[in-house]
Amino acid sequence: MSKVLLISTGGTITMVRSKHSGALVPADIETFKAFMPELFAGNIHVDIQAFSPLLDSSDVNPECWVRMARMVYDHYEEYDGFVILHGTDTMSYSASALSFMLENLSKPVVFTGSQLPVGVLRSDAKENLLTAIEIAAAQDEEGNAIVPEVTIYFEDRLFRANRTTKRNAEHFSAFNSYNYPALAKAGVHITYQPHLIHYTPLEKPLVLHTRFDCNVAVLKLFPGIQQPVVRALLRTRGLKGVVLETFGAGNAPTDKWLYRELKAAVKKGIVIVNKTQCNTGSVEMGLYAVSLNLMKAGVISGYDITTEALLTKMMLLFGENPDDIELVRTLLGKDICGEVTVD
Ligand code: ASP
Repeated sequence: MSKVLLISTGGTITMVRSKHSGALVPADIETFKAFMPELFAGNIHVDIQAFSPLLDSSDVNPECWVRMARMVYDHYEEYDGFVILHGTDTMSYSASALSFMLENLSKPVVFTGSQLPVGVLRSDAKENLLTAIEIAAAQDEEGNAIVPEVTIYFEDRLFRANRTTKRNAEHFSAFNSYNYPALAKAGVHITYQPHLIHYTPLEKPLVLHTRFDCNVAVLKLFPGIQQPVVRALLRTRGLKGVVLETFGAGNAPTDKWLYRELKAAVKKGIVIVNKTQCNTGSVEMGLYAVSLNLMKAGVISGYDITTEALLTKMMLLFGENPDDIELVRTLLGKDICGEVTVD
C-alpha cells in the first residue's frame, strides 16, 4: 500500500464561518478530518500532520516554509509522497519556495487547497485533495514517482509549482502556469506528460536549504512614477535584491534619473532583476531601445520567471550565500529547478 503524508497548514479548505464575525476562519484539524472520511477509505495509506493553529495563508511566512520543508525532509524515507494543504492566496509563494529548498527531490510534493471550505456542499475540496493524494502516490512499474517535483494541483490541472500564479479569486481554476504547460490533466483518467516533468537522478540525496534573507522588494514601474518613490525604495537600509516589474518585453521609461538611481543601486551591490508585468512571455532586454538603459545600469534579465518564484529564489539565494553576491547574480540568471526558460 502506498503511503502519503498529508501536511495541513490551513487555508479555506479547512475553514468554517465564525459565529462571532461572520468571516471565514481556519477550524481545527479534527473538524476537517470529520468532513473527509474518504481520506481513510481508499487504497492509499494517509497520515496527517497539521500546523497548530491552522493558518490563513496571508499569515504564512518564510518560517512556515521552513516548517513545511522540514516535515517533508524529516519523513522523506517513510512516505512515497507528500500533500500540503494550503490557502490559495499565497500558495504559489510557498510552493515556489519549497521547490528551491528541497534540492534533488525525487518524490512528489503536491500543494492543494480549495476555493470553498470542505463543509460547503458545492466545495471543490474533495476532488482537489483526493486527486492530489493519488498524484502524490503515483508510481511507474519500477516503483519510481511519476511526478517527483513540487507541484500545485487545482481543479483539473497539475502545474510545476514555481511556474504558477494565483489568477482567480472566484473560479475553481484558481491557478495558472502561463509560461510552462501543465504536467498532468485530470479527467476520468489522470494523463501525465512525462516529457515535461523534471527527473532528478535517484542516487542524489535530498538536500534541505532553510536560510532566507527577506531584505528584498518589488518595484512596479508605471507611467508617471516619481523619482522620490524609486529613490526611497532603492535606498532602503539593508536592501539586497529588487524585482523590477517592467513593461512588455522588459522596458522602462528612459528618464535619466531612473537610469542614475538604478545604476547607483547596482554599484552599491543591490541585485536588480528585470521581470515583465505581463503574465505570458519573456523579458528580452535590447529588443527595444527603451530597455538599453537597464542593461547599461547592470539590471539582469528574469526572462519568463514569475514574481513569486523570483522573490522566493532571491530570498533563499541571499540567505544561503550571504557573502557572495556574484554567485547570487549568476544563479539568478540560471534555471535551478525548472522555474525559468533561459535563452
Ligand atoms: N484566504 C484564504 C487563504 O489563503 C483563501 C483560500 O484558501 O482560498 O488561506
